[in-house]
Amino acid sequence: MVEFKDVSVTYSSGVDALNKVNLKINDGDFAFVVGPSGAGKSTLIKLVLKEIDATSGTVMVNGFNLKKLRRRKIPALRRTIGVVFQDFRLIPTMTVYENVAFVLRVIDAPAKYIRSRVPYVISLVGLSDKAKSYPTELSGGEQQRVALARALVNDPQLIIADEPTGNIDPALSYEIVELLKGINECGTTILMVTHEHDLVRYFGGRIININKGQIAFDEVIGGSNESK
Ligand code: ADP
Ligand code: ADP
Repeated sequence: MVEFKDVSVTYSSGVDALNKVNLKINDGDFAFVVGPSGAGKSTLIKLVLKEIDATSGTVMVNGFNLKKLRRRKIPALRRTIGVVFQDFRLIPTMTVYENVAFVLRVIDAPAKYIRSRVPYVISLVGLSDKAKSYPTELSGGEQQRVALARALVNDPQLIIADEPTGNIDPALSYEIVELLKGINECGTTILMVTHEHDLVRYFGGRIININKGQIAFDEVIGGSNESK
């Protein structure tokens, strides 16, 4: 669950990136976050990950009150969140399998669990036959599916996808969102930032539109895929 109460962020430059934002994303929700460049979308995500702190207001994420969260507890917060970036951020010297397993290794998960869990999530994103490939041997869409497997492997409560389709073929963008929808149907909350109006119109659902640091609208719309 993500809850913002009267959240404002003013950067040291004096820019008001967010202005009294109120927002609630319940467990199991799927929400698109849209809005023009400079609207405050990245700022919102940085707050959720506690990469920055709110200048005022309260941010609650998965039961953590981020204002009160001590620095040494930040990893505990972040373990409840999987993040997918526009530029994939895979480790080029590691295979698909190793890129995904790495997440569990750094938290000292048991080897036996890693051996069963990693192939499972790789199969969920449809890449079982590429487990031994390196990122450079994969298409953009495939690399993004690896990034998704990596975000999923720790079974997070929330997945944040920040322009996940920004660097991939438009046709493959739909596959990435379909995968996110499938993950959402299994109970994971999804927050996806996107510029792609076509995708949002196609899938529909909750759209949080940010403009000039404020929520311009927050509505549920029907998707054009449902009318077919
Ligand atoms: P978006 O992700 O919607 O493009 P951002 O959250 O990145 O928007 O930016 C919101 C506003 O805050 C913009 O005016 C941007 O220039 C400003 N901004 C973002 N990051 C910083 C920063 N580190 N220091 C100062 N201003 C920033
Ligand atoms: P758990 O370990 O919580 O019982 P699973 O191992 O079944 O759940 O799933 C782990 C993660 O994989 C969850 O985040 C879930 O949302 C996701 N997941 C499960 N099944 C699918 C699926 N068919 N497609 C996409 N993601 C899935």
